[in-house]
Amino acid sequence: MTFKELNLKAEILSAIEELGYVQPMPVQEKTIPFMLEQSADLVALAQTGTGKTAGFGLPVLNMIEPERKQVQSLILSPTRELCIQIANDLTNYAKYLKGIRIVAVYGGEDIRKQLKQLDNTPQIIVATPGRLIDLLERGKVKLEAVDYLVLDEADEMLNMGFKDDLETILSKTPDTRRTMLFSATMPREIASIAKKYMKDYQEITIGHRNSGSENVEHIYYVAQAKHRYLVLKRIVDLNPDIYGIVFCRTRQETKEVAEHLMQDGYNADALHGDLSQAQRDTVMQKFRIRNLQLLVATDVAARGLDVSDLTHVINYNLPDDVEIYTHRSGRTGRANKKGVSVSIIHSKEKHKIREIERMLRKSFEQQQIPNGLEVCKKQLFYMIDKMQNVEVNEEQIAPYVEQINKQLDYLTKEELLKRFVSLEFNRFLEYYQDAEDLNYQEKSRSERGDREERGSKSGRKVRLKINLGEREGMNPKRFLGIINDVVGDKSINIGSIEITNKFTFFDVFEDQLDKVVSAFSNESDMSVTEAKGSKSYDGGSRRGDYGKKRSEDYRKDESRFSKKSGRQSDRGGSNSEKPWRNRDRNDNFKNSNSRKSRRR
Ligand code: AMP
Repeated sequence: MTFKELNLKAEILSAIEELGYVQPMPVQEKTIPFMLEQSADLVALAQTGTGKTAGFGLPVLNMIEPERKQVQSLILSPTRELCIQIANDLTNYAKYLKGIRIVAVYGGEDIRKQLKQLDNTPQIIVATPGRLIDLLERGKVKLEAVDYLVLDEADEMLNMGFKDDLETILSKTPDTRRTMLFSATMPREIASIAKKYMKDYQEITIGHRNSGSENVEHIYYVAQAKHRYLVLKRIVDLNPDIYGIVFCRTRQETKEVAEHLMQDGYNADALHGDLSQAQRDTVMQKFRIRNLQLLVATDVAARGLDVSDLTHVINYNLPDDVEIYTHRSGRTGRANKKGVSVSIIHSKEKHKIREIERMLRKSFEQQQIPNGLEVCKKQLFYMIDKMQNVEVNEEQIAPYVEQINKQLDYLTKEELLKRFVSLEFNRFLEYYQDAEDLNYQEKSRSERGDREERGSKSGRKVRLKINLGEREGMNPKRFLGIINDVVGDKSINIGSIEITNKFTFFDVFEDQLDKVVSAFSNESDMSVTEAKGSKSYDGGSRRGDYGKKRSEDYRKDESRFSKKSGRQSDRGGSNSEKPWRNRDRNDNFKNSNSRKSRRR
């Protein structure tokens, strides 16, 4: 289907063509003909980012009578940012329509400016409920000529406590109006508003009810609560191009996580209710223009933020409410782009994941928290890619090339490469070389001291290694598959697994040792030997060579975020805690120096 087939005015078609809209999005295919050709009200279940602004904006603009200077359409939205966004979008769509005025009125800004804008009556008002009530009370806005009323993000308006305001506003609009209600979710209160204030409305759903966007992949990592921050860092480090929001439960947590990220050299900042409106605007703007890579925010503070191309949403904690999860994850995977919603959970929260899966009708994938090597490899090749694609300014560097050539003449290409990589990468390798496995290990029965079924085991383990590692594509699942295949005994109890580039280290119980080693002795291309320096020991997890000594940096990091540690006193941590210098991480992300000087 094309926009032309939707019978929109030529002026509107020209404007949207200029904006690069080629095909209507699914919500638009449904709402535009419905509004133009029928007379009933509409309830649309659609996430932000599905194109719903044009879904209601285009038919409304098409039906407005430019010569009639009355408020013909009222669009209500929960936040000032969304108001501004909608008004901007409509202004763009109306670029070639003569005589249409669109005014946005919202709280948090001097009312005098808005009063002035209303002197010349607009045909379309985009408003937040509270400010509109104020203007109605001042007699500055009249709603008796409203033909089209749009309630955008209606669930959010209710969440924000606008129910009474909404009812007041609705009562001041004529019964003859047509109403369009948009909501990402359909809680009971929305259904009751629709029932009370809308006439034989039609309901359309883009995707499932309560479902997240189709473009969002949902994954989760299981870790101990004290490792949450470290897991966050691994996620960020594994995704050098990340542009996302980290959702926290409280202002305090938001501040702490953001501060730690900043101290650790990440391009992050916090958005929470303790900031003034001006400070919030600044942070949001920096994030919008990608001056910030990570925004750590509470749900309430992030409400006003409308950014379409987030790569990730990170749930630092799972929200209690599935609808909040839907809203959070709906912030990524917008406008036909792919997005990832990541949750860091504790083992006891798996049931919450199941509950969200049921409500969203989506399956979530549990992934292994990447180990240090995986992170390093990703970063290394990210850097190599960047080098491949860097723009070379021949002219500027020409005067130096000869001298540089002379100076480096004695180095082979391989030596040059090694030095180049080390220059940028040593800190990273150092930081991660002894990084701990952060995956939550379900304790085996015997580790819990419950031996009834496994009475044959002594509880002592031996650390073994197999000559297959990361470079052969090894991962824990594959490794366990190999054990099952080769040993042919599913009761073999494997303790902690550590995968390095060349080897996989793992623990087995002493009394199963022979079985495992002899099974592998028949394999020509795999060899299992005792890990160097390994001793049998009692219970607990133990690392092979790879994890013998945890680096100072890493230990520091772990204690920083352990609940028991004195956070303040740990904060002054040395620079060695930064796995990289933030500069150059991504050319798109300008390093924010201001974050260093700002203290809130
Ligand atoms: P919305 O859900 O209204 O916030 O829209 C999400 C994004 O999709 C915005 O950046 C719109 O400009 C864009 N958009 C809306 N409709 C179309 C379309 N038909 N083709 C391409 N982009 C669109």
